Amino acid sequence: MANKLRTESLCIRGGWKPKNGEPVELPIVQSTTFKYDNSEEMAMLFDLKKEGYFYTRLQNPTNDAVAAKIAALEGGVGAMLTSSGQAANFYAVFNICEAGDHIVASTEIYGGTYNLFGVTMKKLGIDCTFVSQEASEEDIEASFRPNTKLLFGETISNPGCKVLDIEKFARIAHRKGVPLMIDNTFATPINCRPFEWGADIVTHSTTKYMDGHATQVGGCVVDSGNFQWDDYAEKYPGLTSPDESYHGLTYTKTFGKMAYMTKLVAQLMRDLGSIPAPQNSFLLNLGLETLHLRVERHCQNAQRVAEFLGNDPRVAWIDYPGLKDDKCHDLAIKYLPKGSCGVMAFGLKGNRDTAIKFMDSLEMVNIATHVADSRTCVLHPASHTHRQLSEEQLKEAGIAPDLIRLSVGIENVDDILDDIRQALDKAL
Ligand code: PLP
Repeated sequence: MANKLRTESLCIRGGWKPKNGEPVELPIVQSTTFKYDNSEEMAMLFDLKKEGYFYTRLQNPTNDAVAAKIAALEGGVGAMLTSSGQAANFYAVFNICEAGDHIVASTEIYGGTYNLFGVTMKKLGIDCTFVSQEASEEDIEASFRPNTKLLFGETISNPGCKVLDIEKFARIAHRKGVPLMIDNTFATPINCRPFEWGADIVTHSTTKYMDGHATQVGGCVVDSGNFQWDDYAEKYPGLTSPDESYHGLTYTKTFGKMAYMTKLVAQLMRDLGSIPAPQNSFLLNLGLETLHLRVERHCQNAQRVAEFLGNDPRVAWIDYPGLKDDKCHDLAIKYLPKGSCGVMAFGLKGNRDTAIKFMDSLEMVNIATHVADSRTCVLHPASHTHRQLSEEQLKEAGIAPDLIRLSVGIENVDDILDDIRQALDKAL
């Protein structure tokens, strides 16, 4: 029964399943270690021959329950929480890449991930080629090399709000014999489940809608269990040949569909250790309990705000996939039939200072380096999140200097509209 629950029920009941007399709310197991009565039992845990807890860097009951809930929401075989979305994307990639490898990613992805792939991972010897997600399949395939290990994109890009053609990306990835990795942060599994469209691995910044209350920074990696690593054994030796750091065990042989997840936890988390605090996972779980309600209201409010901005003559342009004349509207109808998200990008007539004046005139809406939160907030990426990118890189990433990113919250939509209206009146 539990596995057959619908999405809304999984938000509330996935993961933690209290037994008779146990607390209904997920307990916070704020303990680094777990006690055993004999050493043999502990040894079995270290050999991965028995399941159990011994040290929170590897596994913790609170963290695991929340990971299980997200895995169920995405329809994956397993999930691992990380201490941030950045860590999730790093772990997801590094689990199947090493120095000398290459990855292909959409230019549209979040600035932090763009930097991680384009600069920091390069220092580790992993090269990234960025491609336009609107390019033809042939052009994207042309950027693959013999050492390419994965293709990466975001369901809805931050901050450009471009919807990815997931099936197209899946076809390319699978023709090239690599997994498709999708950052599903903005859509959430409420509005899109990328595995149903052929993606193999999904990542999240749980800091965003999943939490929704700006209480914790976190991330998650989910595996579909579908990619056949053994069919490309020479390409993924970390999964398909013995791991000397784990008693010579071969992940695909011992763990089958759980190979990728087991390596992620038993090797990468063991060695790199970016786990979330159980307290944070508890807060994330509270957010997940209302994810389905919040996402629906975010989308309703955002649609009203986008329509208002789209019809205001002071607005030069707006990108929101819910608008009928948006270039991604057809993709949104296909992949996001219930709604896209609460985030939109727009530009005002005038110059860069007009954008700043508008933002500074807002009274209720926050200026915040955050997005996908219950409170409406606004940001100017060229001055804030993406300020490390050159003009050229900004252009490549589709970020106009006048782009304002508005994340519509779940306050009364008329209050949001009133605030935007009065700020526009002051700015223009
Ligand atoms: N992925 C996306 C789509 C994001 O929007 C963000 C942050 O804004 C991240 C990843 C990074 O997540 P975090 O800030 O939790 O490290």
